[in-house]
Amino acid sequence: MTASHPAADAGDLRRSRLAGAFTEEYGTAPDGAWRAPGRVNLIGEHTDYNDGFVLPFAIDRSVLAAVRLRADGGPVRLASTYGASGLSRSSFDLAALAPGTVSGWGAYPAGVVHALQAAGHQVPGFDLLLDSTVPVGAGLSSSHAVEVAVAVALNELLGLGLSAPELARLTQRAENDFVGAPTGIMDQSASLMGSRGRALFLDCRTLSAQSVPLPLAEQGLTVLVIDTRVAHSHADGGYGARRASCEAAAAAFGVPSLRRLPADADLSRLDPTTRARVQHVLAENERVLAAVRVLQEGRIRDVGPLLTDSHRSLRDLYEVSCPELDAAVDAALAGGALGARMTGGGFGGSAIALLEEEAVDVVAAAVQAEFAAHGFAAPALFSVLPADGAGRA
Ligand code: ADP
Ligand code: MG
Repeated sequence: MTASHPAADAGDLRRSRLAGAFTEEYGTAPDGAWRAPGRVNLIGEHTDYNDGFVLPFAIDRSVLAAVRLRADGGPVRLASTYGASGLSRSSFDLAALAPGTVSGWGAYPAGVVHALQAAGHQVPGFDLLLDSTVPVGAGLSSSHAVEVAVAVALNELLGLGLSAPELARLTQRAENDFVGAPTGIMDQSASLMGSRGRALFLDCRTLSAQSVPLPLAEQGLTVLVIDTRVAHSHADGGYGARRASCEAAAAAFGVPSLRRLPADADLSRLDPTTRARVQHVLAENERVLAAVRVLQEGRIRDVGPLLTDSHRSLRDLYEVSCPELDAAVDAALAGGALGARMTGGGFGGSAIALLEEEAVDVVAAAVQAEFAAHGFAAPALFSVLPADGAGRA
């Protein structure tokens, strides 16, 4: 395992260090600390914006947010352990908060405040300190973990009583309207509603969520995240183009989303590229349903082949993989993983592999050797397990 990413959550020590750093920064102790995990999407890729199915789980890496409300009406003060050295700081005024007025990472907490204001809630000034063990840009949704941590903190401190689904929609508005990233509902839902040893089966059409057993540790299994540390420049354009293809295909059949495509829809009407995109989405939804069935029957290892099929479909039909992700998956499988696939939007980011806990070192070595053989930069490797969703730390 490489040491290039922060270690997994270490409970009490992290919390007390955060409280100490908060007091040092702001001169008073925080009112409390809240935790929000990152997430891994086990299966169901590029299905969310097609009103389809996804199966993420909250991971044992999280953002901690220490917060203290202030009554002075002054600016919101933000600090984070994020960055090369020391704290990075940001601030914003509560009045006149609007998209574009806060740049950098402060936009994520500010987006949450803005979404609360837009929903009619009065937000007073507050001080905030963040510390995270969710690697940034590795496809584990560090940004949503920041938003969810801020949202659960303010929900409790202001006594708003918002439910987890309401908080999921709130943080989605923060990310869509304020930060300007067109993300769905999956990441926040996993961060809010995940639970230890379980995954979250989400229907992105109805937003219904169902907890599904995923007792990896109990079964001697783990999920290895292989962060390729590649961020291809065409990731944004590629994502937009895939979305547009799906929307065009749905429109061609007169349905609002691919989820509503009739079973007998004649896909030969579509051009070959669009048809391939649609075939991925339809088959990926089926794979999520198959994975849920397999997990409900306690056959976790049988999820492996579904992951690998998902990868092949993303590589060949949806065409969002890249040489580094393919190398990660191939090497993990050759090293003995039960299944592996790219996760996240694609063109870089991370792959995941389901494997026996005792096989971690062998699989990790196989991946590292494959990357070296290709001349790729060394990947970051770390294991994750399904953890509890957001709450008071
Ligand atoms: P990811 O896939 O990890 O969510 P994004 O590009 O969507 O990647 O979000 C990463 C951004 O989230 C960072 O550039 C930063 O602005 C913000 N962020 C993530 N972690 C932290 C943190 N610990 N403190 C402050 N900002 C953070
Ligand atoms: Mg993000």
